[in-house]
Amino acid sequence: MPIIRDTEIEQLLRDYAAPILRAAGLAKQNVRVVVLNDRAFNAFVMDGRHIFINAGALFDARTPNEIIGVFAHETGHLAGGHLQRLREQLATAQTASVVALLAGVGAMVAGARSGGSSGNVGAAAIMAPQSAIQRSLLAYVRTQEDQADHAGVKFLSATGQSAKGMLDLFKRLTDESLFNSRYIDPYLQSHPMPPERVAALEELAKASPYFDRKDPPELQLRHDMMRAKLSGFLDRPDTVFRRYPLSDHSLPARYARAISTYRHGGLRDALPQIDGLIQAEPNNPYFYELKGQALLEGGRPGDAIAPLRHAVTLAHGAPLIDIMLGQALIATDNKKNADEAVPLLRNALAREPEAPEAYAQLAMAYGRKGDLAQADLAAAQAAFNRGDLMTARQLASRAKTRLPVGSPAWVQADDIVSVKPSKANK
Ligand SMILES: [Zn+2]
Repeated sequence: MPIIRDTEIEQLLRDYAAPILRAAGLAKQNVRVVVLNDRAFNAFVMDGRHIFINAGALFDARTPNEIIGVFAHETGHLAGGHLQRLREQLATAQTASVVALLAGVGAMVAGARSGGSSGNVGAAAIMAPQSAIQRSLLAYVRTQEDQADHAGVKFLSATGQSAKGMLDLFKRLTDESLFNSRYIDPYLQSHPMPPERVAALEELAKASPYFDRKDPPELQLRHDMMRAKLSGFLDRPDTVFRRYPLSDHSLPARYARAISTYRHGGLRDALPQIDGLIQAEPNNPYFYELKGQALLEGGRPGDAIAPLRHAVTLAHGAPLIDIMLGQALIATDNKKNADEAVPLLRNALAREPEAPEAYAQLAMAYGRKGDLAQADLAAAQAAFNRGDLMTARQLASRAKTRLPVGSPAWVQADDIVSVKPSKANK
């Protein structure tokens, strides 16, 4: 599944989720929100450590409170330990449906032998047990949904927030699915919303003293900026300019258009738009990040360095922006810049150890410095993170021949060489 990594969006979603996770007693579990590059509306939990949310859900949610409501509901699943039990249930259901299918095939064969309206008998035999399993599974899922709704509203109330967003969103999703039977959001498939459930949620939500509480305007603006950014990066230019027409002078509209212009138009048209954003908010790190990214991708790494430095300073510790600055420094083909890039990337990797791009950049930086042993080791780590174990081992073995035996780097290389394939396939 393609993941979207972006400091601005991740920071906002952390701010949405953190109070809810604390209220649920899950603050210490280090639950991370992961954004998936998928336009359909969906959010789910799988392993107790992550809340997955589609870019489509972020884009469709009109207020912060709607996404906070989704997080509250998903946190309800986490806190209720629903995942493991649902998985067990599904495993049994699958076994049972295989048995049912075999029984159905048996009936079909028997029907064909006896002649007559055989096919239908077989089909009915297949249908009956499976629909019975589906009914019991659905009942089970509905119980969990009701529990997650209850828990979600509790977490929202405990943090002084309204459940109105959750309610509005669920109502909208069910209404849309009525009109659009051709396409059903995956969220509705995993979160069935019969009218009783929505009615029960409405009653719960309205009982809260915080029902009418609105999101603070500055949070709403950050939310709108996130939606604008997602649209600018993911939508086609004509879609972006229809959603955010030139007549719209709001900051989110200008953000979406500037991003779309740099992605699809040209640097020359995009730069004045980005500079206009910087002028409007001179302390917004993400506008400098955007400028640096546009210049870097437009083939002007030397010019990208200053805005990226500014973004790094304003963002107060954002490893993804550090990595981009490192990339710009290395792309300038200057040994002094490569010297600066090495500690920058090392520091970023200490906080983002799974970023394969950062190891590849680090390998290049060491290459520029002429440190071939460290270049091989970093390239081995990049390959390892990509899951390319064979290349990782080859590079690590070569690094070992160039490193002092027993040094920390040699030990790291040795670790990669001696990894068992099963352990690497995570
Ligand atoms: Zn649910």
